[in-house]
Amino acid sequence: MQSAADSGTQVAIIGGGPAGMLAAQRLAEAGHRVTIYEAQATVGRKFLVAGHGGFNLTNAEPLPSFSARYAAHQPRFQEFLGHFSPSDLRQWTTQLGIPTFVGTSGRVFPEADYKPAQLLKAWLARLGQLGVIIRTRHRWLGFAGASGLRILNEATGEEISINPAVTILALGGASWRKTGSDGLWTTALTEIGVRCTPFQPSNCGAEVNWSAFFREKVGRAPLKNIAVSCGPHTVRGEIMLTEYGLEGTPVYALTPALREALGHSNPAPLLLNLKPDLSWEALRQRLAQRRAGTTLASFLSSALRLGPPVPTLLREVGPAALPTSPEELAHLLTHLPLPVSGLRPLDEAISTAGGVAWEELNEHLMLHQRPGTFVAGEMLDWEAPTGGYLLQGCFSTGAWAAQGAARWLAQNAKIFFG
Ligand SMILES: Cc1cc2nc3c(=O)[nH]c(=O)nc-3n(C[C@H](O)[C@H](O)[C@H](O)COP(=O)(O)OP(=O)(O)OC[C@H]3O[C@@H](n4cnc5c(N)ncnc54)[C@H](O)[C@@H]3O)c2cc1C
Repeated sequence: MQSAADSGTQVAIIGGGPAGMLAAQRLAEAGHRVTIYEAQATVGRKFLVAGHGGFNLTNAEPLPSFSARYAAHQPRFQEFLGHFSPSDLRQWTTQLGIPTFVGTSGRVFPEADYKPAQLLKAWLARLGQLGVIIRTRHRWLGFAGASGLRILNEATGEEISINPAVTILALGGASWRKTGSDGLWTTALTEIGVRCTPFQPSNCGAEVNWSAFFREKVGRAPLKNIAVSCGPHTVRGEIMLTEYGLEGTPVYALTPALREALGHSNPAPLLLNLKPDLSWEALRQRLAQRRAGTTLASFLSSALRLGPPVPTLLREVGPAALPTSPEELAHLLTHLPLPVSGLRPLDEAISTAGGVAWEELNEHLMLHQRPGTFVAGEMLDWEAPTGGYLLQGCFSTGAWAAQGAARWLAQNAKIFFG
């Protein structure tokens, strides 16, 4: 059934996350009639979740190295970021009345006085002023004919069909299901022959099969100012030992490398350097000062500030007989192998790799299989580390898809509007 209220929809945006809402804003600003269809009772749930642990909107890193964060997709993202850049994103938040500041490692946050909910509220008010209609509890079920969409009004149980002139799909990835990003949309796309790369957890914790003794004795404990390496990739920072393995930004950043390593061997070795600020020679010299009779635990604590849980960790993953020579001990402290047996489940991950395969899209992010249907945000097959690169990627692809949609509308205006 075609709903009368939706019959005038010129642009349908499916998914009320950052990618979809920015696309909606850009198209409404260009004078188009836009409706957002969102399955949840409210929009922007994952956007708000992102705000819980520090709302890292983007990064002040220069564009060449910023775009390198998207690894193999750098050339594409260079173009997306050029179109809607990190400074455009900062300007956008400022225009919504929320100033930003640059924190450590270039991370950009809203000023301390502003809560994520305030940004979302200001954004929704702006969308309202632009005439964007938001239909919550409206779940997209799939395609109908050449340009139609099937939508379920979950409040009434009624299924409607709409025929927008253009559609932007921005349904998110497949983690944190409770925010609405359930990844179920792949069925509708594969049904029309669009290839989707299977989802994989990204920016997630790593599993280590600790002994029962270790789990009980250490539980959760931070390791500060360390470096972890997987293959040629090394990341510094702080990690957290947990009952199931490891958490923390350096581990998240190594997810792609760990995933690849796990494809070759299990467990995959993650090498921990407990003293990345000391040269190997300086470390060796300090270790050579250990006097006979001093326990390793008290020596490591006093000479190198490596207190608990380090001695227990060395016994857990080090050789059965810990080395005594300064050289071997220096090697162990800088190359401690943490045997990673897997990545944490998809639903726990901050983001997901996988999604709509790039070869299914043209340069405007329009599906080859379905002219007039564009894709944006995390449902595309890319991944990037934390640090503001995820939201920026979603905003930039949202703006890019909106530009493609506007162009397509202009080219096809005669067909649609006589
Ligand atoms: C814990 C956590 C912390 C994070 N912190 C940060 C951070 O600090 N910085 C950063 O850059 N990124 C962060 N992220 C990642 C960021 O939030 C996401 O990358 C971003 O929200 C993805 O945007 P999106 O618009 O593509 O999809 P989403 O935000 O997932 O939005 C997709 C929307 O589509 C809707 N939807 C799904 N299926 C349907 C359907 N069938 N019909 C209608 N609607 C549907 C969903 O309900 C959802 O509202 C964090 C993520 C998590 C989980």
